[in-house]
Amino acid sequence: MILLDIHEPGQTPLPHAEDAATAAVGIDLGTTNSLVAIAVDGRPEILRDALGDGLVPSVVAYLEGDDEPIVGRVAKRILEDEPDRVVASVKRLMGRGAGEVATLGGHLAQKTHDDGQGGMVKLDIGGRIISPVEVSAEILRSLKQRAEMVLGKTVDRAVITVPAYFDDAARTATRDAARLAGLEALRLVNEPTAAALAYGLDRAAEGLYAVYDLGGGTFDVSLLKLEKGVFQVLGTGGDAALGGDDFDHALAEHLLKQRGGDIASQDVKRALSAARRAKEALTDEDTVTADLDLGDRATRHEITRAAFEALIAPLVGRTIEAARAVLHDAQVSPAELSGVVLVGGSTRVPLVRREVARLFGRDPLADIDPDEVVALGAALQAEALTRGSDTLLLDVVPLSLGLETMGGLVEKVIGRNTPIPVSRAQDFTTYQDGQTAMAIHAVQGEREMVEQNRSLARFVLAGIPPMVAGAARIRVTFTVDADGLLTVSAREALTGTEARVEVKPSYGLSEDEMAGMLQAAFENARSDVTTRLLAEARVDARRMTLALDGALAADGDLLSQDERGAIDEARAALEAVMAGEDRDAILTATEALEAAARPFAELRMDRNIRKALAGVEVSRLESRLQAG
Ligand code: ADP
Ligand code: MG
Repeated sequence: MILLDIHEPGQTPLPHAEDAATAAVGIDLGTTNSLVAIAVDGRPEILRDALGDGLVPSVVAYLEGDDEPIVGRVAKRILEDEPDRVVASVKRLMGRGAGEVATLGGHLAQKTHDDGQGGMVKLDIGGRIISPVEVSAEILRSLKQRAEMVLGKTVDRAVITVPAYFDDAARTATRDAARLAGLEALRLVNEPTAAALAYGLDRAAEGLYAVYDLGGGTFDVSLLKLEKGVFQVLGTGGDAALGGDDFDHALAEHLLKQRGGDIASQDVKRALSAARRAKEALTDEDTVTADLDLGDRATRHEITRAAFEALIAPLVGRTIEAARAVLHDAQVSPAELSGVVLVGGSTRVPLVRREVARLFGRDPLADIDPDEVVALGAALQAEALTRGSDTLLLDVVPLSLGLETMGGLVEKVIGRNTPIPVSRAQDFTTYQDGQTAMAIHAVQGEREMVEQNRSLARFVLAGIPPMVAGAARIRVTFTVDADGLLTVSAREALTGTEARVEVKPSYGLSEDEMAGMLQAAFENARSDVTTRLLAEARVDARRMTLALDGALAADGDLLSQDERGAIDEARAALEAVMAGEDRDAILTATEALEAAARPFAELRMDRNIRKALAGVEVSRLESRLQAG
């Protein structure tokens, strides 16, 4: 990545961006959480819901019968009860092929659907086949609606951030998702770049900065150099499949092992949710308890921060090693840095902060909420782009682009970290007498051999006049536009024969698929934001009452008459507003019912634990008797 000042003389800034009929926003489309922000006159702000919440969990629920999916907080709650109908962490699947998914860390990937065509991975949700692009589009649509509700005007353009590691396929998939959501993606900006913008490092004094971004599913570390308003990325590194999710996995595995017994896949998801809650609580507390109520057994586990740190130390260690490697590659010592920026919710974990501080020999910058910093930077960039400001940002090619040559080797045409847009040409020739066609295979990656890199596109330049081997001159040109999208063209110099492809990644949506989806989106004209939010509130309320009824039927005897009365009253209050149009009333009543039922939930937990313990005693006794 590199940030450059580009002066575009023809363009004059619009006088008042806020007067425009439609708005452009910045979107952090995260693996775990997404946010939308807007900047006015250089001041970015997160757009929040009525409860003041800025984070929208990147979770989409496809409930039976409901054709409109549910996004965010409510979907995240449904995840525990109906994991098969809920998609989380879909960002990990963006631009991935059906065959690749098995290799994507974690044994908890969604149920996938393989159409045998070798195309992009699809998810099978209760028999509905859905692509990751569509799932992301739902998240974007929900962010767009949130922004429209807060701003009171149409939001039709956005700067969307992506991890620096995203390859061409993943970027294209993100762009397609924006289109499906009715948003023009003004620019895809790398997340660390956006964070740097939010900190105003582009306006700061000269210096070197490191950006350490540990989110839910990705880890990026970048080294930025700032000089006279020009911002250059000296190096990037990281791990596209490492983040807070892995902390959850480590802790969940530990809990399940402690507990023993058979584990259903549903149990794993619940254990993960419990682990996440415990992990987040351990950021502020030294000891927490996690309750696992799975299958027919409930168990309670005490976790100390020290024990948690021991579990995640190897994962944190991997991030530190990656950061050290980036410094080493750039031949920069920690002492030469002017600052370190923390990005991502997982940088709240005390061990992470300690290790980052230790590596870099200083306390990192964390004044801006690490969850929000990327969206804020994206909003600044969206404003800059829509105002036709004379300062634009440029990114770099994240992975080298090259061509397959003889023997399965790769000839790099554009090296990684080259600023974009860029166009580079390389001359090739024929290797056989009379050869009239040439197969061109564009690949992406850093490795020497074609098979170790990612295949981007293949095409054939035909119509080369027959000549002796080595006489033809074929110029292959790689062009990467400002969004990082690649076009490859080949031209034979003597005859002017030409061939070109706009690289559609192998795992992208086909034009037909895309057209079909756009058509479908247009036909089932979506309900407006109020209807959608109301529907979500109702679903949540309905689920709450159903769960409560089940619990009362099973363990209602635990309650005194007064306690039961309080719950019944809160339940009746919710029933009274549930079918109505007042969303706030439904939300308030749902929360009140949840609060009223909390002591009951604790009583049930205690009873289940006692039952489980009693079971253990009996079986131990039995085995002793048998042994004796
Ligand atoms: P992403 O960029 O991948 O969407 P975020 O930056 O939103 O992710 O970070 C999400 C991760 O941060 C999750 O793994 C979440 O559990 C973790 N997280 C959020 N708050 C805390 C906290 N207080 N302590 C520890 N981890 C946290
Ligand atoms: Mg993030």
